[in-house]
Amino acid sequence: VIVRFADLLEEARRGGTVVGAFTCYDAESAAGVLRAARGRPVVMLISAQMVSGPDGDLLVAALRGLAEQARSMVCLQLDHAHDLDTVRAGCEMGLGAVMADGSHLSPDANLEFVLGARAIAAPLGVAVEAQLGRLEGLEEIAVAADSGELTNPEDARVFVRETGIDCLGVAIGNVHGIYRGRPHLDLPRLREMSAGVPVPLCLHGGSGLPADCVGAAVAAGIGKVNFNTDLRQAYLTRTAQELARAPVGAALLALHHAQMDAVAQTAAEKLAALTSLAALPR
Ligand SMILES: [Zn+2]
Repeated sequence: VIVRFADLLEEARRGGTVVGAFTCYDAESAAGVLRAARGRPVVMLISAQMVSGPDGDLLVAALRGLAEQARSMVCLQLDHAHDLDTVRAGCEMGLGAVMADGSHLSPDANLEFVLGARAIAAPLGVAVEAQLGRLEGLEEIAVAADSGELTNPEDARVFVRETGIDCLGVAIGNVHGIYRGRPHLDLPRLREMSAGVPVPLCLHGGSGLPADCVGAAVAAGIGKVNFNTDLRQAYLTRTAQELARAPVGAALLALHHAQMDAVAQTAAEKLAALTSLAALPR
């Protein structure tokens, strides 16, 4: 069932867990994520490239249809939109949240961009996540990355107050894709932000982080963790294995079932880790 972004985060908080968010590129990955959810609230992340790419409206409608049928509480979120046209398109496609990522802009331009996104989204009841600090690495292609410029806690406090956003993505040593070397998260910085900011904080780049890192971030105040790379890798690894067999009888459905299994297993591992880690005392 599809619910509002705020209700999803609140439901997770009440249940003593944090929200796992997973990028869904097709019906197979979405079905895998929904199977893994098993009653736990999840966010289905929709790539900005999908929204603005060929037949984006049809693909998003298909994923929304899957979410409507799910037993778990689900919210669909446009991920990493860098322009207002994409934000508007995501809102018109019926997504429950958009991430307006202006972290590549100057601070003033980021503020202006997020205010513009909010002016589009808020009247439609669509929640807005923004990003402060720089996340290195690429969202769609896994490459090794070092951590970028970290989020300043005082900037975060002022930014959230001035924009009225619903969720803030932070840079505390996390990267997209593959971590170069052992990840190091700046937990004192995160704790300071968590104390000063009244909205949930989001950790992007959950894939490459060891479970103890994610657990420490959750204990220090993270409310939502985004996963993408690990799901894509599991999907593609399994696809490569099955492709050797699939041409016999052109067994396409068997291939799709294997892809769903691979995504479901990976997402279930992430959700189980979030649930057990969030249950630890803070
Ligand atoms: Zn991200």
